[in-house]
Amino acid sequence: MAKVSIIGSGFSGLAAACFAAKDGHDVSVFEKNSTIGGRARSFSEAGFTFDMGPSWYWMPDVFESFFNAFGKSATDFYHLQQLDPGFQIVFGKQDILPVPAKLEDLYKVFESCESGSSQALQKFLKEAEFKYRVGMQDLVYKPAFSWLEYANLDVARGMLQSNLFSSVSSYVRKYFKDPRLQALMEFPVLFLGAMANKIPALYTMMNYSALVQGTWYPEGGMFKIIDGMENLAKSLGVQFYPNTPITNIEVEGGAVSAVHTATGRIPTDGVIASADYNHVEQNLLEPAYRNYSSEYWDKKTFAPSCLIYYLGVDKRIDNLLHHNLFFDADFVRHAESIYKTPEWPGEPLFYVCCPSKTDTTVAPAGMENLFILVPIATGLEDTEVKRESYFASIINRIEAHTGSSIASNIIYKKNYCLDNFVSDYHAFGGNAYGLANTLNQTAVLKPSLRNKKVKNLFYTGQLTVPGPGVPPALISGQVAAKELLKYLNKRESHETLV
Ligand SMILES: Cc1cc2nc3c(=O)[nH]c(=O)nc-3n(C[C@H](O)[C@H](O)[C@H](O)COP(=O)(O)OP(=O)(O)OC[C@H]3O[C@@H](n4cnc5c(N)ncnc54)[C@H](O)[C@@H]3O)c2cc1C
Repeated sequence: MAKVSIIGSGFSGLAAACFAAKDGHDVSVFEKNSTIGGRARSFSEAGFTFDMGPSWYWMPDVFESFFNAFGKSATDFYHLQQLDPGFQIVFGKQDILPVPAKLEDLYKVFESCESGSSQALQKFLKEAEFKYRVGMQDLVYKPAFSWLEYANLDVARGMLQSNLFSSVSSYVRKYFKDPRLQALMEFPVLFLGAMANKIPALYTMMNYSALVQGTWYPEGGMFKIIDGMENLAKSLGVQFYPNTPITNIEVEGGAVSAVHTATGRIPTDGVIASADYNHVEQNLLEPAYRNYSSEYWDKKTFAPSCLIYYLGVDKRIDNLLHHNLFFDADFVRHAESIYKTPEWPGEPLFYVCCPSKTDTTVAPAGMENLFILVPIATGLEDTEVKRESYFASIINRIEAHTGSSIASNIIYKKNYCLDNFVSDYHAFGGNAYGLANTLNQTAVLKPSLRNKKVKNLFYTGQLTVPGPGVPPALISGQVAAKELLKYLNKRESHETLV
């Protein structure tokens, strides 16, 4: 039995811990914060329970297959509900696009925007399904150490190549002319951290998940998944150490020999670092053992950060759904402020999650729980004045859409932005979602899952493969654990022979 240390308790760290413990190892998870879950933590105040980060439950098959690996099902840990409509996009007053759960209803919505578009949608989704199946079966569960890992994809190769070198944006425009449909079809890849004209068309596989598999919600909030994974990990024998930041990774003879905390040295046979990759390399490892220089990180394209408001409102609000995208401002200008000339946006687009529409446990009776998210560039100067400068106009826009006054009914309010990401998660530039999935940052071109100089040190999470998002973080943890286990098993068989 080897001693395995996991740095960080987000989705990727928890997944890695479960797989390492299942293999019979003595696994410890060290977390700098007082609570488990990383960017997916939750907090409760004034009777409201807020998910701090993720709110969209897509790719339910990935969650299910994670739990199945331990002889369990997601439903053993939380109750899932499909949202219908899955979400709505607000383009302006009286100009709203709901996205129903049933495909027949979605076809009708498409036809109401553009004649003939339901047939285009059927063709688009058929291709998206193929990409999803190939992607999930053959691409994302690979460690991406070499392109040779992808050499056996004969059947899919032609299609995949053409989808790598064209963008989501040009691909979507071949199918749809109506700007609202284009915006809807490009929205799912915004999760991947770049504009649709920079994301390979391969990632329209996300549309299959968003529009065919549907948008789901775990009762009690996204944190219920973390809760479930923590319970699973504990049942496998994993030990958790909250409030315990790792301060140094000690290397001897080309392998990690121990990790250090403020109170001591913990000998270890292998490490999976799920904390932000840049932090682990630049702050916890001697320069000689780093995969990458600080210049390397400066050149990377980071996914956005965000400004978040958590609000408790002491009344019900009509015309909001669980998920609402406010695209009622100039999309290109906002995107340029994130990706082209990083600056605080003028009039931003934003997203409102209102989980109390679905779940009575997240707000007191008769009240609403609101989570408002504005995507912004990383590395901006973050001040309280800047954070608050958007609040009144955003609330005005929500009031105009919902037809109800909200400002005077807010009984709880907290903001969260760049500096919080840095201090809470050691996030490079205050990033929220890690590295963008651009062509130059896909698969083998992402920061490597393994340390090339230290044989028992592996990285996992949203800065390595397969990329940002909760399902990729689960997959990343599994893949990193598999690689560490290979190393440990090899070492054990070598020791037995000796
Ligand atoms: C606001 C927001 C909204 C999002 N919305 C969605 C969504 O709707 N759907 C979706 O799929 N994805 C979403 N994402 C992305 C998703 O949440 C992340 O990709 C995923 O949770 C990242 O998991 P992780 O394990 O890679 O990293 P993290 O969750 O960041 O975990 C890393 C952990 O390491 C800890 N740590 C750091 N340094 C140290 C140290 N020295 N010692 C010990 N521990 C340390 C950190 O405290 C943290 O707990 C969202 C993210 C954010 C921020």
